[in-house]
Amino acid sequence: MEKGYLDYQSGMPVDPRVVEAMTPYMMEHFGNPAVLHSVGDSAREALEAARAHVAGYVGADPAEIVFTSGATEANNMALKGAAMKLAKKGKHVVSTVVEHRSVITPLKFLEREGFEVTYVPVDRDAFVDPKAVEGAIRDDTILVSVMMANGEVGTIEPAAQIGGIAKAKGVLFHTDAVAAQPSVPIDVSTLPFDLVTLSSNDIYGPKGVGALYIRKGVRVEALVHGGGQERGLRSGTENIPGIVGFGKAAELMKAELESDVARMKPLRDRLMDGILEGIADTTLNGPRDRRLPHNANIRIAYIEGESLLLALDMEGVKVSSGSACSAKTLEPSYVQLAMGIKHEEAHGSLQFTFGRWSTDDDVDLVLAVLPGIVERLRKMSALRPGMEYDKESFGHGHDH
Ligand code: PMP
Repeated sequence: MEKGYLDYQSGMPVDPRVVEAMTPYMMEHFGNPAVLHSVGDSAREALEAARAHVAGYVGADPAEIVFTSGATEANNMALKGAAMKLAKKGKHVVSTVVEHRSVITPLKFLEREGFEVTYVPVDRDAFVDPKAVEGAIRDDTILVSVMMANGEVGTIEPAAQIGGIAKAKGVLFHTDAVAAQPSVPIDVSTLPFDLVTLSSNDIYGPKGVGALYIRKGVRVEALVHGGGQERGLRSGTENIPGIVGFGKAAELMKAELESDVARMKPLRDRLMDGILEGIADTTLNGPRDRRLPHNANIRIAYIEGESLLLALDMEGVKVSSGSACSAKTLEPSYVQLAMGIKHEEAHGSLQFTFGRWSTDDDVDLVLAVLPGIVERLRKMSALRPGMEYDKESFGHGHDH
């Protein structure tokens, strides 16, 4: 891994052991698991072995795992699939303002289709208050969806508590676990989760593969119809190499999560404290405790984040300014705005995310180059302490 890559939340390399496991399934074992002759056998066996590994990784039964093209599809299947199935019972869904776009956008679609969605707000640290979720549940509520953790600002949400509240009220509970996957254990045998979105690439597997955990007895409508694969829930010839890779990545994650965290957390802490103590007017976004151990998100006052990212890139440091989705635009992060962070402050936030190959060298590099860059950019910045913020200086001038 190239020194200075601290953007694992946006993209992770595939673990070499995963690549090795996948390779035979491209040319050697190329069969279609649906055929009856022996060439299909090895593909079918590999598919079911991978399902067992993914199930084992989250404490599920293999029959509760449906493979998808990724977390986006799994979120769509959970939200739209459950809503369609339960529309006769009610048309109200409860979620939050800090969900990933792949949750928010399907919910917006459901609103256009006649469902009502309550988006529960968050506090200054992006925490969702379980009491607020409880208060939002009505007689016609059919589904609650709250993420396990927010990958951008690092907040680990009280998803277990909220799932328990939903369960007590007889309402389905979905959680997008993707951001939690690299550093938080997930065990559906003890957690009150009905539907869980999982991603391969967030545990060093290939991109374009994911899964939805569907608790036994819970029913969702299929969104992709065709040949009836995945018990009719997700038709289409299975992506065998990708699924094999996901299975291997899940097996490794289960075995290595603890040692991964033991390695990443001290690095993250050294970086976080080094910046907060070494550079004036810097603030941690999100909580210090109940925080993803591989995430640091720090606000650097009086600087436009985009120039900061470019200057850091020139020194070999690759980080993000917000969620990967909004990072390409000049829009500040909607997550940070929802936390009550001001438009201009959110612009100067840096998101550092660590992974399996992060080292002290990465931290040393950031701590060596960041203070100088901040000093230089602050000298040129239009933003000064006490100055009124001018929206136009941020290019877009959108109102939020
Ligand atoms: N949920 C969360 C929390 C994510 O961070 C992401 C992106 N990694 C997704 C869903 C969507 O994942 P994908 O783009 O792989 O479908």
